[in-house]
Parts: sequence; C-alpha cells; structure tokens
Amino acid sequence: MNFEDFINFKMFITTTFMKIIYVIGAILITLGSLLLMVGFSMPYAYGLSIGAGGILAGLALLIFGNLGWRLLCEAIIVVFSIHDRLVSIDSKLGSGSNPAAPTPAPAQPQQPQGKFCNNCGAKVSPETKFCSNCGTPVSQ
Ligand SMILES: [Zn+2]
Repeated sequence: MNFEDFINFKMFITTTFMKIIYVIGAILITLGSLLLMVGFSMPYAYGLSIGAGGILAGLALLIFGNLGWRLLCEAIIVVFSIHDRLVSIDSKLGSGSNPAAPTPAPAQPQQPQGKFCNNCGAKVSPETKFCSNCGTPVSQ
C-alpha cells in the first residue's frame, strides 16, 4: 500500500462519507418538514389558515430544504472529485512518489539587450568578459 493508494482510499472514503451525510441530512429535512406539516396542521385542524400556513411552510422546507441540501452536498462532492481528478492526473504525469511534480519552467525570454560595466558604466556586449572602455572584468 503506497502513498497513492492511501490518497485514493482516503478520497473514496470522503466521497462515500459525504453521500452518507447527504442521505442522513435529506432524511432529517424530509422528516422535519413532515413533522412541521403534521405538527402545525394537527392542533389547528379547525383553523384552516394556520394549518395551511404550516403545511405550506413544511412543503417549502421539504422542497427548498432538500434542494439546497442537495446542491450543497453536490458542491462538496464536486470539490472532492476535482481533487480526485487532480490526484489521478498527478499520478499519470509523475512517478506517483512526487505528488507536487514541478511544472516545466517557462522559457525565460531574458535576452540582455546590453550590459553595462560596473566600473565605468560603459555599454559592453554580452559576449565580452572585459569592459572595452576600462578593462574591468564584467560580471556575467
Ligand atoms: Zn568599464
């Protein structure tokens, strides 16, 4: 069991964990909304307006609560799946033992248009090692 397996295993556990959390949350939201509907409508069975309000609130919680909870869990799972994908891309690119594979450094277009002598300030060509004006060695 190497490090990569450990990472995959961990991510798998996390995604599964989120699914369990989602199911538990959805059940709780559904139960809560049902209790809200029943609890509001039962004592006020004769008061139609209050009971209807409770049922509407329960329905709203049932629909929007589950919808919002679903979206939240999906967003979290998407974050984890992106991480999974990055890990798999890393393992494909590199040897796997180096997750933080260094990206190839972009070619630095550092073409010195001209260097100047440290001593006299005269412009010297990049190839020369000594200043053509005063003879001071030019630091490369
Ligand atoms: Zn010089």
